[in-house]
Amino acid sequence: MNDPVLELNNIHKAYNVGKSNEIAILKGANLRLEAGEVVALVAPSGAGKSTLLHIAGLLDFADAGDQRIKGESVAGLSDRRRTQMRRNDVGFIYQFHHLLPEFTALENIVLPQLVNGVTQKAAEARGAELLKRVGIEDRAHHRPAELSGGEQQRVAFCRALANNPSILLADEPTGNLDPNTSDRVFGALMELVQETGLSALIATHNLELAARMGRQVRLENGVLVPL
Ligand code: ADP
Repeated sequence: MNDPVLELNNIHKAYNVGKSNEIAILKGANLRLEAGEVVALVAPSGAGKSTLLHIAGLLDFADAGDQRIKGESVAGLSDRRRTQMRRNDVGFIYQFHHLLPEFTALENIVLPQLVNGVTQKAAEARGAELLKRVGIEDRAHHRPAELSGGEQQRVAFCRALANNPSILLADEPTGNLDPNTSDRVFGALMELVQETGLSALIATHNLELAARMGRQVRLENGVLVPL
């Protein structure tokens, strides 16, 4: 059997607040994300969803526990290998788009590919294809400020998928949009994920959106429990 795409075993994380105050956020979180699975990560604000996603996406370090991406343990990786894994295996979507304001939609999707050694021509072709899939190919040459909130977030989805990751991690990806737009943009994201067969862990506090995913887990008192 194939290794899970992402495995979190007994992950712990605490933050130091002030000099001697430590707050434990993750207290032994476990998760197996199999290839092609789309899992909702549900919890109220402040429960630790971002903390968990940042660790899973190699943007932060756990204090303890074992994490594997496609079977490879991330503990003790060299900085170089860790960066390579983050770039190649993980796509990240934030609540706010974080697009580069001085670049167009297409350029924002091209740039991470160039960093990864893809040619300009191939990167543009992939960017155009992704924009088409989310229905905004006619906005390719607009800068973020010339796009609506929903369009900005669609571009951010394309950027996250630009380098063909194995895992998509999304932190309240439509949390910043009004309910109608959120519903449509979320639909576009789910289509994109399903078409590409990606594995995804998508944080939301919206139970209706969570119900549209294959499986739901809740972050409760620092551990993950099935919903
Ligand atoms: P969520 O994404 O579910 O809203 P977070 O993971 O952002 O939750 O935060 C969980 C808790 O950890 C919150 O109480 C937050 O204030 C705290 N926290 C997050 N980052 C830090 C940090 N760098 N230092 C101290 N506390 C933090």
